[in-house]
Amino acid sequence: MSDDAEDAFAAVADELRVRILRELWDADDPLAFSELRDRVDVADSGRFNYHLGELRGRFVEQRDEGYALRFAGRELVGALYSGVFTEEASVGPQAVEGDCPLCGSDLEAVYEDEQARVTCTSDDCGVHVVSVGIPPAFVDGREDDLATAIDGYVRTMARQFTAGFCSSCRGRTTGRLERDGEHGPRAVYECERCGNRFHGFVTTAVLDHTEVLSFYRDHGRDARDAPIWQMGWTTDAEMDGDEAVVAVALDGDELELKLDESLSVVGAERT
Ligand SMILES: [Zn+2]
Ligand SMILES: [Zn+2]
Repeated sequence: MSDDAEDAFAAVADELRVRILRELWDADDPLAFSELRDRVDVADSGRFNYHLGELRGRFVEQRDEGYALRFAGRELVGALYSGVFTEEASVGPQAVEGDCPLCGSDLEAVYEDEQARVTCTSDDCGVHVVSVGIPPAFVDGREDDLATAIDGYVRTMARQFTAGFCSSCRGRTTGRLERDGEHGPRAVYECERCGNRFHGFVTTAVLDHTEVLSFYRDHGRDARDAPIWQMGWTTDAEMDGDEAVVAVALDGDELELKLDESLSVVGAERT
């Protein structure tokens, strides 16, 4: 961990500082010093002043109108509210519409240990069609239809990574084709800043590609109508030399996409 990151953790390793951040989060407008101190409800003005000072600059800023959260402060309180540090949640298993794309068995959706998964129920196969780490806030209010929530989240995350944004820190991500995965070539996106990784089927890289969207549209369909594991082509990719080939099939027509080592689409052909 960098010294900067250690300093940041040290700055919030105190219950009073967390209360200050939460009061600023809950307030609609910047708060004057005395108002903030009243809300945090601490009698010792010197102690309050000291801890507020430790948050200033990185997490809290002082404007003309009063104290307010900076971007890093909002992110931090958001993480606290997401339950990352406090909650445990588990939901499922729930039956999922559609079959395992590898063996045809039934699928189920589960959320536990901060992982959301769509998994094949066959003991012989047991493949995780989807497996992503998500904080507990993800399942809150979505307990009844975990599969739809997982599909939406994976698409959102894939869209961020393929556009070059890390879903954790917003740093720059780069894509890399991994040739020798257990189930064929894989897509890996990695954040250059925080090391966060997305690892999935190669087809993840083209779920939202304009060629795919227009191919669906030309067949009177929307590429988002079915969850990704039911689209019929999202687990298939083959290597052809240095390139991965993805074949999107609809109504007997096929769209063939070629991806280079950085997962950029370098060729598209309909047959
Ligand atoms: Zn299976
Ligand atoms: Zn990152």
